[in-house]
Amino acid sequence: MDQILPPIPRPLPIGNAEIYWLSGGDFRLDGGAMFGPVPKTLWQKRFPAAADNTILLANDPLLIRTPGQTILVDSGLGNKLDSRQQAIFASTPWRLLSQLALLGLTRDDIDVVILTHADFDHAGGVVMAAEQGGAEVTFPSAVHLIQEAEWQDLAAPGRRAQESYWPINFTALTSSGRIELVRGEYQVCPEVRIRHTGGHTRGHQLVEISSGGQCAVHLGDLFPTHAHSNPLWVMAYDNFPLEVIACKERYFSQYRQMDAWFTFYHDPLIRACKLGEKGKITDCWPPASALCQARRG
Ligand SMILES: [Zn+2]
Repeated sequence: MDQILPPIPRPLPIGNAEIYWLSGGDFRLDGGAMFGPVPKTLWQKRFPAAADNTILLANDPLLIRTPGQTILVDSGLGNKLDSRQQAIFASTPWRLLSQLALLGLTRDDIDVVILTHADFDHAGGVVMAAEQGGAEVTFPSAVHLIQEAEWQDLAAPGRRAQESYWPINFTALTSSGRIELVRGEYQVCPEVRIRHTGGHTRGHQLVEISSGGQCAVHLGDLFPTHAHSNPLWVMAYDNFPLEVIACKERYFSQYRQMDAWFTFYHDPLIRACKLGEKGKITDCWPPASALCQARRG
């Protein structure tokens, strides 16, 4: 099976660190829900929709390799969706472990898992269906970093959160004792730190990677695809949309000043971009992507 997988594309270098994207399974969601208040006549120019109005989205975790740590940001859809859920989401298989193997890594080599938040499309891979039946922690040696506010909401989800916080993704992890709760800001290693943002969910967090004068920031579901570069373009899935807008304005401005790459989890077309004034995309990664060529041309 592994032999027919394409090689992992070259990583985005940030000083001493490297960022890879691994396949956590694609799915299709309603385009209207992904673009909330934005009319379809506008969003479809930036993101193609199928006849049933769905759009293709990746769920691709970032693998950050630093001289001292191997860090995974979110975990993809996982392998626990039943056939009905696979049909609803038109999902493709979760290939995280076979892709780690292509990089010479095993499940035990992951030191840290950072969860931007606890929705099933981000946390689905932290607990996996075991070969012998039942569920097991996917990365048994890793510490799993999650904001305390997210953990509180996970323990007592509101009516809406119950739809996306799935106990099946956390039961084995909770009993493993491999969870560390973070309040606000936390330096994971010299190159990587996390910061609480709120917005999409109450305990949502961002990941900042800086090394050698270079910087990348992962805004998780505050900035799910390149087409959401207008701060006003928020999702119907955002729990606190006005907070998302404020966060985007604040972090776009702050990280633009550092000439940072903005990295994506859900974008099937490009992995990262740089932003100019008013959400204009000025550069993208990989440099050879069709979108990048079109924007440069
Ligand atoms: Zn998401």
